[in-house]
Amino acid sequence: MQLKIYNSLTGEKEIFKPILEGNVGMYVCGPTVYSNVHLGNVRTFLSFDFIYRSLKHLGYKVRYVRNITDAGHLTDDGNVDNDRFVKQTRLEKLEPMEIVQKYTVDFHKVLDMFNLLPPNIEPTATGHIVEQIELTQKLIERGFAYESNGSVYFDVLEYNRRGLNYGELSKRNIEELFANTRDLDGQGEKKNPQDFALWKKASPAHIMRWNSPWGEGFPGWHLECTAMSTKYLGETFDIHGGGMDLKFPHHECEIAQGKACNDAAPVNYWMHANMLTMNSQRMSKSTGNYILPMQLVTGENDFFEKPFHPAIVRFCFLQAHYRSVLDISNDAMLASEKGFIRLMEAIKVLHSITPNDEKQSDFNLEEWKNKAYDALTDDFNSPVLIAHLFEAVKYIFALNDGKETISTKDLDDLKSTLDALIFDVLGLQAIEENNNEKLDQTLKVLIELRNQARKSKNFELSDQIRDKLLAEGIELKDGRDGTTYVLN
Ligand code: AMP
Ligand code: ZN
Repeated sequence: MQLKIYNSLTGEKEIFKPILEGNVGMYVCGPTVYSNVHLGNVRTFLSFDFIYRSLKHLGYKVRYVRNITDAGHLTDDGNVDNDRFVKQTRLEKLEPMEIVQKYTVDFHKVLDMFNLLPPNIEPTATGHIVEQIELTQKLIERGFAYESNGSVYFDVLEYNRRGLNYGELSKRNIEELFANTRDLDGQGEKKNPQDFALWKKASPAHIMRWNSPWGEGFPGWHLECTAMSTKYLGETFDIHGGGMDLKFPHHECEIAQGKACNDAAPVNYWMHANMLTMNSQRMSKSTGNYILPMQLVTGENDFFEKPFHPAIVRFCFLQAHYRSVLDISNDAMLASEKGFIRLMEAIKVLHSITPNDEKQSDFNLEEWKNKAYDALTDDFNSPVLIAHLFEAVKYIFALNDGKETISTKDLDDLKSTLDALIFDVLGLQAIEENNNEKLDQTLKVLIELRNQARKSKNFELSDQIRDKLLAEGIELKDGRDGTTYVLN
């Protein structure tokens, strides 16, 4: 089986060849922890969780690194005073690292809710200031960067002068970039508007600041990912992922920094996950068209008519390929819920099927497995994989109705293949039945047993049931309409 990956850099699906056979180094840009992640952010992280799970299932030993952006970095409008951490610090009257801690904890809680596996390494930008300063020094020494008024910028024109190609990932032409740029940040400091900050001088208002050879300041956002990815995965590593919106300038700058530092492209396969839209509009905090993951799960929102279990949200996300835009709507969620319930029902039914080794089945299990794995290895095509799972679901219900047969060997194979694909690879989880309902049913059984004991005058047993329940804080009350219970 050959794994094919769509490489955003070449614009083609390529056969995946890891640097070290059997091993994969994968870096994914993590969240900026100055506020709660919205559902759109979750989609990107979930896409890479599915890719991580798939790689592991296909037998690769994966080192998965996903960072936490916790050092303040510039905003799109380039105004240092609009730094997102600084703003939130003022708003919430908290220390910057309190903000970082609060939203890192929230991020982990949210991803845990959707059953995302933790990465192998989760480095923070503030924990790698020394590495970022060293990289900046190296870039100055190599003539790719210059200091200006306490800040250090990457010299994009110099990079191109040396035959390198700034814009190769986003397919932007440098002249076009120079003509269209309206970047006000660093005006008067930069040689060219496209030069980007490696190190930024901190204004007196800027709270997050570190000492450096250029005075007090803080690192540029693009540099942190270069510092952390190459530290843990090497100067050139296999896969770099992130949301589509990070292609330019973030990932373009990472390529430039990596090449300028090490004379080698930092990444072999660039993977970009597409956006989540809601009611056909991109989900984003700035436009207000967003929903927090918890709001979808509790139902406390104005967009969806009912709450949805995290496993159903996960299933809904995986029904779209990671490179396609996914529009989330009430109808889409309801359809996913229906599909999810049918899938889980089939798994339950499968465990009660009796095999039959005499009769031949029309369902070719080997062929079906090949199709499922072809989808998985075809650039992680989850919607096609799920479509194949539903062929198996149909077969399972036919088995249950006695319209189909399965041999003992095939039954074991089908069970283990479905378990692996549904639970390990797609990362779905069966929804546990409501515990309160279970307790209610159990207590009703105990009340019934107590009534029977009383009828047969076994008062010792009936009293024992009542007293033992009472010791557990459950009081039985005998009334005219029968026995009820109170939980104390
Ligand atoms: P941020 O914390 O803003 O750096 O974003 C974290 C990740 O979420 C990045 O990889 C973004 O590309 C991604 N992201 C932001 N908005 C969306 C969206 N609407 N749909 C999918 N991914 C998104
Ligand atoms: Zn990054």
